[in-house]
Amino acid sequence: MKMKVLKFGGTSVGSVENMNNVKNIINDGQRKVVVLSAMSGTTNQLVAIAQDIAEKNPNEAIDKINKLNETYFTAIDKLLRNKKLNEDVKSYVSGIFNFLVESTYKEYSETIENQIVAQGELLSTYMFNSYLNQEGVSSALLPALSFMRIDEFTEPDYNYIESNFKDVFENVEESEIYITQGFICLDINGEISNLQRGGSDYTATIIGAAIKAEEVQIWTDIDGMHNNDPRYVDNTKPISNLSFDEAAELAYFGAKILHPQTVTPVRTDNIPVRLKNTMNPEAYGTLISSKTSVNGVKAIAAKDNITAIKIKSARMLQAHGFLKKVFEIFESYKTSIDMITTSEVAVSLTIDDDKNLDKILVELEKIATIEVDKNQSIVCLVGHSVVNHQDTFKLFQILQDVKIRMISYGGSNNNISLLIDTKHKITTLQKLNNYLFELVTL
Ligand code: ASP
Repeated sequence: MKMKVLKFGGTSVGSVENMNNVKNIINDGQRKVVVLSAMSGTTNQLVAIAQDIAEKNPNEAIDKINKLNETYFTAIDKLLRNKKLNEDVKSYVSGIFNFLVESTYKEYSETIENQIVAQGELLSTYMFNSYLNQEGVSSALLPALSFMRIDEFTEPDYNYIESNFKDVFENVEESEIYITQGFICLDINGEISNLQRGGSDYTATIIGAAIKAEEVQIWTDIDGMHNNDPRYVDNTKPISNLSFDEAAELAYFGAKILHPQTVTPVRTDNIPVRLKNTMNPEAYGTLISSKTSVNGVKAIAAKDNITAIKIKSARMLQAHGFLKKVFEIFESYKTSIDMITTSEVAVSLTIDDDKNLDKILVELEKIATIEVDKNQSIVCLVGHSVVNHQDTFKLFQILQDVKIRMISYGGSNNNISLLIDTKHKITTLQKLNNYLFELVTL
């Protein structure tokens, strides 16, 4: 029988009330896999603790560890009235906090940071499994580190995951609900690693693909993917249906609700992904599937911390091979390019990872004159066949009052991207909302 995979985010497991909501959602008599994030705020604290260790501030790290320990003990007392379970969980949690304290005596390394950051999901899943136990719901823990692994390119190792998941699943006591940790995995050397921030969504779809799930559900604290960023724009609305392409573009270009890679594992097998709200389970949410519909712009998202580089050279004029040289420089520093526009004498492109920017610039300056603009944002308009839609021209109405640094139109039929200075982001999102969704005309 096909199972569903349900992932619950940090706020869903962030309080006793919310854990109770999760219990009610998952306890419907059907077998399922439940993927949990760390309780909200925990991963940020763990990252900060690792940072303190890196900066040789062990006392500050210990301070944070003690505070976090206190928060967990208070949560456990609220959650687990059953004395035996309460004591068992406290002893498990103390083991983790002892490990964190021991880490502060060690020399910082990426491995240590990854081990520290992994503890959040180990805590939340152990606590939640005990809570279900207390409430009489049949559940078992599937340790993610026994089956979740990435390869040398940090891509999921699907063969390994599929066979190891099967092994772990078949050897654990039979239950209705199988709980596992999101985000954490092993790397190719068997060290603890992770799928990057927000990675529990990705865990859910990787497992979904491995077990050919009936559906993957991502439960958060908002009614699905909205058509614009609700932090900056009023009256945004949830989008009921998105295609895999649309969802992938939105997740990559800044829609915070999904990890950028979420839909990749499931799209070839056509496994639908449903975005739902733990605090409002009746709301329809968003269904991501292979169905497409032409509706013009469906959603707008923005991605910050973009660097734009203008590469100008008289040598480009009627010369071939110039772009190849440029791309090779970026390639040699493993830096991927997001947007690109060209003229006969210049090319502008953007990157979001500027770790190697200085070295790249040294190379580029050997062949061209360079201008760099930091603090840029890509505003991305997404909709199936949006470039062909009759209403899309309204986008250009904002050109008269927002300074646009680059436009990418026609790269894909489903996406139009604008590059703007981040200081204009909020007004740009609001204006686009008015022109494109609220039907305001000039
Ligand atoms: N706990 C991790 C994070 O905060 C992973 C996740 O929540 O998806 O990024």
